[in-house]
Amino acid sequence: MSEIESAAPPAPVVSADPVEIAGGVYVLPDGRVPLVPNAGIVLGTRAALVVDTGMGPANGAHVLERARALAGDRPLILTLTHFHPEHGFGAQVFENEALIVYNAAQRDELGEKGEAYIGMFRGFGESVAEQLVDVRLVHPHVTYDGPSAEIDLGGRTVRLLTWGLAHTRGDQVVLLPDESVMFGGDLFETRMFPIVPYFPPDDADVDGDLWIDVLARVIDLAPAIVVPGHGEVTDVGVVEAVRDYLVALRDETAALKRDGLSADQVVEGLAPIVRKRYDDWDNPEWIDFGIRSFYDKAG
Ligand SMILES: [Zn+2]
Repeated sequence: MSEIESAAPPAPVVSADPVEIAGGVYVLPDGRVPLVPNAGIVLGTRAALVVDTGMGPANGAHVLERARALAGDRPLILTLTHFHPEHGFGAQVFENEALIVYNAAQRDELGEKGEAYIGMFRGFGESVAEQLVDVRLVHPHVTYDGPSAEIDLGGRTVRLLTWGLAHTRGDQVVLLPDESVMFGGDLFETRMFPIVPYFPPDDADVDGDLWIDVLARVIDLAPAIVVPGHGEVTDVGVVEAVRDYLVALRDETAALKRDGLSADQVVEGLAPIVRKRYDDWDNPEWIDFGIRSFYDKAG
């Protein structure tokens, strides 16, 4: 393999087989491949739930096929942790195969930003654009308003919980109370800097303060098994680590702004320090976005 080839990131292809993390609860692990999420499959006696699809129709088809293999002829339900392409833009293959359930904020955010995100992601390189060929955004069959919904899969009730704006406007965790399993989407990642999608003026719908509040609520729920949006399945320690990271980044950024530094100066001075502090975390490019987001909101 040439140096150039080995430097290129692997294609964002969902290729894993399901791994059972609790009785009847499966994850298709992301293998730490960029733009591949941890997708979930939860079996009840009467129905099965799929959490996140991967990006584009081929990845969605892989997740659907694995879900069908596990669920047999039980009806499928699809929900998403949030609208971002690598989590939900494979939903089209589920349109006639599953009942699609989002919260109202997810539905609205997808409708408002979906097409622009397809364009943005196509710009990330050929292997990403390839997965987005023939992508089509689909609307949910059912949405819920308010902070929560329950789905009875038969012998197992799943709670969908949303607290509004954080990583996106419609972040949703999927909690299995009996097994104490939580799917958290991009509210937290294992050993990766949290993704702060702060792209003003196109999309500035991320709020670090509210995100910190949401993580406190997640920690209060005390899930035993935590499935992050990306990275290894782990425990609630990952949520505490991300909260501590965001709190420190917010406070240090605000202090430097009060000292009169520009946003560029804060990034230049603070980002390398933060990078060193978390030297085993991946995706350090998100430090800069985090600093700029906190800087612009700091008083
Ligand atoms: Zn995301």
